[in-house]
Amino acid sequence: MLMEGKTGFIAGVANHRSIAWSIARSLDREGAKLALGYLSDREKQGIEKIVDQLDNPPLLIQLDASDDDSVGRAFDQLSNEFERIDCLVHAIAFAKREDLEGRYVDTSRDGFHLALDVSSFSLNCLVQAAEPLMTQGGSVVALTYLGSERAVPRYNVMGVAKAALESAVRYLASELGEKGIRVNGLSAGPIKTLAARGIKDFSTMLHLHAERAALRRNVDVEEVADTALFLCSSLSRGITGEIIFVDGGYRIMGM
Ligand code: NAD
Repeated sequence: MLMEGKTGFIAGVANHRSIAWSIARSLDREGAKLALGYLSDREKQGIEKIVDQLDNPPLLIQLDASDDDSVGRAFDQLSNEFERIDCLVHAIAFAKREDLEGRYVDTSRDGFHLALDVSSFSLNCLVQAAEPLMTQGGSVVALTYLGSERAVPRYNVMGVAKAALESAVRYLASELGEKGIRVNGLSAGPIKTLAARGIKDFSTMLHLHAERAALRRNVDVEEVADTALFLCSSLSRGITGEIIFVDGGYRIMGM
């Protein structure tokens, strides 16, 4: 099994639709021992009902990535339970609903700070905390979207946050490579999740994506999860600082 003897922390599980949950299932299937990060007690209650679908019972850790104390407590808990971690998955994003509806130009200072803090700086924050635990090197995977490099209507400030996240992937990869820690972004095509519901007209996005992607369909969450598994496993040991697209070939199309 690809992840036998490996441990991982997957941050951003909200429910059974979360990309993070599917990634947990892929890594668990390949033998990883996991900790899952959730934001609130409400999410925890839902996760407790589905964790028995995993072969190895995971550790559940409360984590608010915008709060340094919460991140500190989460990693204390993690280091008490695991002597090291081998992979970290960042599947966290948030922006105010009003900033995902109107025009990007109307984004407020507060809305900008919130989106960038929760969706981009959180990666730095988690990697800072994870670095001392990645004693045998490791792999960090951050979920991102094409709105980072293209102006996608209504993705707005989240696109700017994803651009910062992807840039952070490259800086982190360049600095942590000497410790054998790899950092990559995984850019997924649109998938119906809780976060996606915050984007107005998301179903139009799905429809257009399926029509225009090279594969002429949307991607499913297991395809994204299995690519995360590849990036977490030693199969991808020569890859770092990259943004890997799992979008059915949407990005390569010119017309
Ligand atoms: P989701 O709603 O299931 O996951 C988003 C997670 O972010 C939730 O678990 C939420 O609790 C967490 N979160 C929000 N604020 C947080 C905070 N302050 N601290 C800690 N966690 C916080 O939706 P998803 O679509 O699975 O999103 C996961 C990642 O995938 C996000 O980065 C998203 O931008 C990215 N992504 C999603 C799509 C898509 O179409 N769904 C496409 C490309 C990339």
